[in-house]
Amino acid sequence: EYPCHSPAEKRWFRLRVTRLSLHRLMGCVVAHEDITMEKMAEEALREVERKLRESLEREQVLARTDGLTNLINRRHFLELAEHECAVARRYGLPLAMVLFDVDGFKAVNDSLGHQAGDEILKEVARRAGEELRSADVLARYGGEEFIVLAPETAAGMAAVVAERIRRRIAGKGIDTTTGSATVTISAGVGEIQSNTDTVEDLVRRADRALYDAKGMGRNRTVIHDVSGCATARYQGATTAPASSPGVP
Ligand code: GH3
Ligand code: MG
Ligand code: MG
Repeated sequence: EYPCHSPAEKRWFRLRVTRLSLHRLMGCVVAHEDITMEKMAEEALREVERKLRESLEREQVLARTDGLTNLINRRHFLELAEHECAVARRYGLPLAMVLFDVDGFKAVNDSLGHQAGDEILKEVARRAGEELRSADVLARYGGEEFIVLAPETAAGMAAVVAERIRRRIAGKGIDTTTGSATVTISAGVGEIQSNTDTVEDLVRRADRALYDAKGMGRNRTVIHDVSGCATARYQGATTAPASSPGVP
């Protein structure tokens, strides 16, 4: 099969050579068959397949992405977390999770409007993303709640990352189309404690610590206490007592 395009059109031919022997005469028959239609149909089919593959890939990316912040969404985060959790359990590695939530966000929406609220969430996502280390995974967990997976990281170090994010977000007002607002976040940190722990255990611990951070006055990071009781440790809290145990 060979192409033989003219300047005006694309053409393909199939060359077929058939040996022929007739009495003492040896020879062959050479036929050139125009297979342009066949080739065009093949090309069209390939193009359709390429477009389908592309749109499937786009769909898959969209299905994993949060439309507002462009972060990965909760579902995809949990898939990644399952994988990291299995790795951590198998090799006995630490694994931490940070769940953080914008403080008093309802009031921000009420005063600046929902659209401004959206702009703030985008900026919160952007700032948080800039404070992550390369292996950390940030996702929008839902509403004004975000989550970080920190592989090969114990709770203390994850709390340092959480504090960097907290300070970065609180450090500077966020301009929106209807005005500017300074928002703070509260963060809860949980970590793997045994090789039977599940992703749900991790999320539950981070959530519990976040709940404590809210209860302690917000704008702070709390590490889930190993004993599981409410007296979690503080980290960088604006109103934490000076005698807060444990964390540098
Ligand atoms: P807390 O400090 O206890 O977290 O107070 P809060 O006001 O942030 O908490 P609450 O759960 O009462 O309110 C959360 C608000 O976040 C209410 C909801 O309308 C808003 N919210 C959730 N998702 C979005 C969003 O995608 N865009 C905007 N603009 N607002 C959102
Ligand atoms: Mg909130
Ligand atoms: Mg919330």
